Amino acid sequence: MNKEDLKVLVTGCAGFLGGSMSYELLKNNFKVIGVDNFINSDRKNISLIENTYKDKFNFFEADISKNNEALNSIFSEFKPNLIMHFAALKSVPESIKKPKLYLDNNIEGTKNILHSMHKFECKNIIYSSSAAVYSDENIQPVNENSFLMAKSPYAESKIQSEREIINAASSNKIKAIILRYFNPICSHKDNVIHDNLNNGSLMNEIIKTALGINKQLLINGNDYETKDGTCERDFIHVQDLLNAHIESLCLFKKINDFIILNVGTGSSISILELINAFEYFNKININYSFSKKRDGDIIKSFTDTNKIYKHINWSAKYKLEEMVKDSWLPFSK
Ligand code: NAD
Repeated sequence: MNKEDLKVLVTGCAGFLGGSMSYELLKNNFKVIGVDNFINSDRKNISLIENTYKDKFNFFEADISKNNEALNSIFSEFKPNLIMHFAALKSVPESIKKPKLYLDNNIEGTKNILHSMHKFECKNIIYSSSAAVYSDENIQPVNENSFLMAKSPYAESKIQSEREIINAASSNKIKAIILRYFNPICSHKDNVIHDNLNNGSLMNEIIKTALGINKQLLINGNDYETKDGTCERDFIHVQDLLNAHIESLCLFKKINDFIILNVGTGSSISILELINAFEYFNKININYSFSKKRDGDIIKSFTDTNKIYKHINWSAKYKLEEMVKDSWLPFSK
């Protein structure tokens, strides 16, 4: 697939990662069609992208889990030849409270995309999966063959969506790249699209405490069997994550059905290490204390990076210092 021939349909393009990816694709001269129903976003990112890249970007408001007709008409009009499927609800705690909403929204959305791809002969998809699919009983670091087990309806929706995609690819209908993201933080290097601070991620909570919006940061659990008692994660700079998507495009020429790749740095960073680095490199004190463990949290999670390096020669560029500085940069002024 040549870059100039690519018309990319980005689902969830008003959100944090789908918006950042749309911006990066447009910056790299791809044509982008975006779809979102604003269930977890607003028009801000869309306006920003439209104002920067008017001629190469088309946006449609539609619920992809329910509105097949709208999806089909987008496919019919634009004939996308690549789907980047970001649209999903993503909060683990909310998914425990509202399992049906998460399963319906995320799995039906994926099925509908696959259905439209089949109907309009679109062959290629990159799917935004998650490290949440892995059982925390795996020996760390996990690799793509590690054992899967959902600890939350969110994780279940990701596992089942992967299955739908793999089934479609295995019956030779499509080619699929499934990217299992570890923990994206920061934003696009152009500093344009940011996560919604109310989205509940750890970095958002750190920033809200640094800004004084929250008086105190509560860390869920400090007696896990980890290096300092707090959970450990593989934090990855969003710009690295976006680059991994672009680099993975070459795989469509090489694979017959599907490939699964973990996208992380390969380093395990504890919650306390992240906070301490944020304080040290940004010269800010974060008022934090510990609260009880949270249902659904995975204790330790980081990736083996061999497979992604072998297949697309990609490894993460940004280290912890740059990640905590870039996370704070948009708010520091
Ligand atoms: P986000 O909530 O910022 O963006 C998701 C977007 O999808 C939102 O704009 C939302 O309105 C839209 N959406 C949800 N359901 C939809 C539907 N039925 N129809 C149309 N639009 C719909 O989330 P994000 O952080 O950008 O995450 C994007 C993807 O990456 C998700 O699939 C998520 O599971 C995956 N992921 C995210 C992380 C992370 O930490 N951000 C980690 C691993 C995987």
